[in-house]
Amino acid sequence: MSDWNSQVEAAKKELAAEFKNLDDKTRILKSDHLKKLYALLPKVPAEQKRELGLAINDLKKEVESWLKDDNEKKVEDLRPIDLTAPFDINAKEPSLLPAQNGSIHPISQEIEKVSEIFNSIGFEIFESRNLDDAWHMFTSLNFPEDHPARDDYDTFVTEEELVAPAHTSTMQSRILSLRKSDLEEGRPIAGVVPDRVYRNEDVDARHEHTFHQLEGVYVDKDVNVGNLIATLKTFLSAYYGKEVETRINPFYFPFTEPSFEFALSCPFCDKKGCHICSQSGWIELLGCGMIHPNVLEMAGIDSKKYSGFAFGCGIERLIMMKYGVEDVRLFHSAKLKFLKQF
Ligand SMILES: [Zn+2]
Repeated sequence: MSDWNSQVEAAKKELAAEFKNLDDKTRILKSDHLKKLYALLPKVPAEQKRELGLAINDLKKEVESWLKDDNEKKVEDLRPIDLTAPFDINAKEPSLLPAQNGSIHPISQEIEKVSEIFNSIGFEIFESRNLDDAWHMFTSLNFPEDHPARDDYDTFVTEEELVAPAHTSTMQSRILSLRKSDLEEGRPIAGVVPDRVYRNEDVDARHEHTFHQLEGVYVDKDVNVGNLIATLKTFLSAYYGKEVETRINPFYFPFTEPSFEFALSCPFCDKKGCHICSQSGWIELLGCGMIHPNVLEMAGIDSKKYSGFAFGCGIERLIMMKYGVEDVRLFHSAKLKFLKQF
């Protein structure tokens, strides 16, 4: 046993005693006993630093849990007695209590994670909208009038000819127009839109009429395909918590040129082949490409001076890949057993 091990143990005892005597319990996080442990870090041999760091962290977590318990106890003490309540409010059996705590829906939770990753590499987060016009949905994205590609989307349209967005790309032109002055000031435009989209689809294990997409745009001087790949790779490796390999194949979208379909090495089998990747070792995950000059020009950006990339992917698909969920309908199923796994 290393020498610092006993010091961590001793500090724990001291902290417990101190906590008991504190009036303002939150002061425990500023305790000298914790500070002394942190001061040990620079002194231990390099190969033990990680272990000591982890031990201190564990202790800190424990101290935080004391605080949490103490807070809960306080709330408990404050809870008023409702004489009309049909429940035994002090019941030990959770199912007898009047209410059970809910939790954050897995999609919201994962959107939060995705946004944090993009934030950390300099992307601004934008919201989409629930109704839009055909100009933003199609025209601003270089879909010619009456082009059959417009029909590929099976959109819901209101009597007033408004569209329930079928892709988060409906926000692309807005982000470009809104932030184009950044370019003149020497800053890139970097934005992502994680939000809800709608398609008039038959629902099955892989298709939903309402789902979520993640749109990304990046514009600056001299942006190239290498930047696109590096950005997506950074994001996916951070999201899946492991280094992923990526592969691109040519594809067609009206709003990017060239366009690609982007695949990543299967995070479940490391390319050996499994049922999730249909034995191929690769998963086609998203569409992307270099923003078409027409799209830049329509948003008032000089396409001779600036270039950029855009990408879009299904958020449910990202999550399904991460946790091995096989039926997209589960997300809207309100099945508590499923939702509580996250
Ligand atoms: Zn696989």
